[in-house]
Amino acid sequence: MDKHVYVIGAGISGLTTASLLVKKGYSVDIFEKMGKIGGRTASTVFRNHILDNGFHIMPFYKKSAIFQVLKKLNIDSNLKLAKVDKIAFYSDTGFHKYPKGVVDLLQLSLIPFSSRVKLLKVLLPMAFASMRKTEEWDNLSLTEITKKLDSNTNAFFEAVCMLAFADNAEHVSLGEFARTMIRANPFKGGTSEFAYPDDGGYDAISQVLSNYIIANKGKIHLNSPIKKIVVNDSRIQGIITKDGIFHPSECVVVSLPAYQGINQLFDHDVFDKKFIDKVNKLDKTTAVVEVHFALNKKIDSRQIVFPVGAFTTKGFFFISNITP
Ligand SMILES: Cc1cc2nc3c(=O)[nH]c(=O)nc-3n(C[C@H](O)[C@H](O)[C@H](O)COP(=O)(O)OP(=O)(O)OC[C@H]3O[C@@H](n4cnc5c(N)ncnc54)[C@H](O)[C@@H]3O)c2cc1C
Repeated sequence: MDKHVYVIGAGISGLTTASLLVKKGYSVDIFEKMGKIGGRTASTVFRNHILDNGFHIMPFYKKSAIFQVLKKLNIDSNLKLAKVDKIAFYSDTGFHKYPKGVVDLLQLSLIPFSSRVKLLKVLLPMAFASMRKTEEWDNLSLTEITKKLDSNTNAFFEAVCMLAFADNAEHVSLGEFARTMIRANPFKGGTSEFAYPDDGGYDAISQVLSNYIIANKGKIHLNSPIKKIVVNDSRIQGIITKDGIFHPSECVVVSLPAYQGINQLFDHDVFDKKFIDKVNKLDKTTAVVEVHFALNKKIDSRQIVFPVGAFTTKGFFFISNITP
């Protein structure tokens, strides 16, 4: 194969893929439609505050896929990370420690003791399930298990939904939720540690990857939307850029949300209908309303607080002094 690859999208996935490709000696051109890298993880600077796109954190810290990739590329030391461990829920009864394991769950003061036990009975089997088993639950929603629970126990799931960036449990996939439980399970080699770029701005991760790509002769073309990916007889022929010019290629990596890529970049007969229907379903699972604050003075020692409760607007994250 020709050792040249086009990557569409300079979000964290496109940048990660491109980094791994340049390490293997491929020549890579990334096309990004926006004027900056990072995609959904891009941060903005406003009046000297770094604003992330909503609440962004690196779950599973050194065991996360992204950290493992940085390590493989030998650039993990280029990203200064701060460990995030002061996380709390806030309800009308005050602050409640965010549970990171069984002991924390048993002490979760947000809900009565009997609810904590019920919660453990639901969560423990999931945390010990196999990854393959969780794939059978991908098309089910989290409500499959929450609908059987009492309102106190459900209060916990309400809070967890905010972490999963969905407006309610209906919009969280049971399979995805279970995989998170497994990844956080220390008995399965997981961790519930979180991290965040120490100098601020979640897109510091994208920046480190982008520096690596450029240092290894990869190219990132900003403000360069791709109009179409040309496929003939089930073989990639190349891409069409915004100026209408066709660029032949044997290998194109499409790294944007699947429902966008499939519907916008390909002719309708390229994928089978069942696959398109499945992908289009994903579009509806990420609804979220949220507001992000940057604080210019220390008002609490906790790093992250998730407000919970009937009178709290969902999706308000209070992020306190993680970074200067
Ligand atoms: C509010 C919010 C909070 C989140 N919090 C977390 C979190 O705490 N932790 C976590 O791990 N994940 C979190 N996520 C999820 C995480 O942001 C995404 O999984 C990740 O950013 C997806 O990266 P991606 O590269 O796959 O896609 P994207 O970031 O969507 O990148 C796709 C890129 O493709 C570009 N593009 C689109 N169409 C074209 C085209 N035709 N031509 C060229 N370029 C194109 C886009 O401009 C974009 O830059 C959160 C997401 C949101 C929205």
